[in-house]
Amino acid sequence: MCDFYDPDVNVTDTVTSRLANSGVRVTGARREVLRAIASIEGPFTIEELAAALPEVGRATVYRTVKLLQESDFVCRMVLEDGGIRYELSQGDHHHHLICSQCGRVSEFVDPGLDAIIQANADRRGFDLAGHSVELYGLCAGCR
Ligand SMILES: [Zn+2]
Ligand SMILES: [Zn+2]
Ligand SMILES: [Zn+2]
Repeated sequence: MCDFYDPDVNVTDTVTSRLANSGVRVTGARREVLRAIASIEGPFTIEELAAALPEVGRATVYRTVKLLQESDFVCRMVLEDGGIRYELSQGDHHHHLICSQCGRVSEFVDPGLDAIIQANADRRGFDLAGHSVELYGLCAGCR
């Protein structure tokens, strides 16, 4: 999926120990949610995730995804049609290339782009709290 996770170590274990290090308790239900996220190929909706976890309450699924998002383990993206998808993140701030045909999402990091965005906010006296960049089009395999 990405270089952030050691392929020899289970993603669920990696995230669990990193969360524990930052003082977040990973309960059994949260672990179940993590395991389901790690096993999903590509971006998912909360509804799909909740459907894959009938034994975990919907509210717990929502809360856990929010927690993982706040801790940068999961990233949120807006599709071209406005739909929201989540994906296991590589951890650092990044942007998305979203293929409108196969739905594949690739991530890219560009500090230069971030600097330009920050400069635009500064120039307008805007206190920037964050940004997300999604590029829509066809991936190399689909074009
Ligand atoms: Zn991402
Ligand atoms: Zn594609
Ligand atoms: Zn950025």
